[in-house]
Amino acid sequence: MSLFRNATFVLSAHELGDLPPPGAPEVAFAGRSNAGKSSAINALVHHNRLAFVSKTPGRTQLINFFRLSGGALLVDLPGYGYARVPGPTQKHWEGVLSGYLQTRGSLRGLVLVMDVRHPLTSLDETMLAWFRPTGKPVHILLTKADKLSRSVAETTLRRVRSRLAELAPNFSAQLFSALKRTGIEAAEQALGPWLGLAQGGGKEAGADANAPSRIHDARGRKKKAPSRTQEARGRNKKALSRAHEARGRNKKAPS
Ligand code: GDP
Repeated sequence: MSLFRNATFVLSAHELGDLPPPGAPEVAFAGRSNAGKSSAINALVHHNRLAFVSKTPGRTQLINFFRLSGGALLVDLPGYGYARVPGPTQKHWEGVLSGYLQTRGSLRGLVLVMDVRHPLTSLDETMLAWFRPTGKPVHILLTKADKLSRSVAETTLRRVRSRLAELAPNFSAQLFSALKRTGIEAAEQALGPWLGLAQGGGKEAGADANAPSRIHDARGRKKKAPSRTQEARGRNKKALSRAHEARGRNKKAPS
């Protein structure tokens, strides 16, 4: 059974005051407009239109909350980087988004959806740099992987992982395709623990090379992942030092 099955719509927030009371753990999804975020959410929840696949980039300007059967929340954030949003609307959304991402206690981590053909754009980098001081994990879905050959997609994945390793030990990445429905199990393995959900048991064809628990060294050989306790120790230390950094800063979210 899938971790994200049976998601139901809770509410759309337009202001920080509209957010549901914090409590259950939640995971937020962000990404450039048209990167494939809505399709990725729909694939994960096994629902064709839960997150509306917008035909107009940047149209969804609301924070949408969905509740999973275990009580955890899945949060769909507005796409960023769409130039045609009018100035005042953009400013409003910058404020709401940065307020949500910086202060939401029940937010366990951020999923950034990127088109595998154009990963880590300057706006994506800004988003990572901006979220990093929270000390919370980021998991990147390199989606539309079906558009590249397997070897080119895996080279991109290695390049993205080595960039993330420079940024934070709890930033991770995987390949994903909503169209081919690949990478779903790997995503469940990465996100389940954030939400306190058990990991999925089923096997998924083609997803093995993608499992987030495996780490690749500089030459692309697989290395054993550090134990969870080691990871947690490292994360706590980093999180503390980043929290110190964060106090001195008040950066804006990319819009
Ligand atoms: P969003 O703006 O980030 O929510 O992006 P959408 O989910 O609306 O997707 C943008 C476009 O990319 C749509 O035309 C989708 O059909 C297409 N798309 C999304 N995911 C995939 C994928 O995994 N493979 C392919 N080939 N196309 C995709």
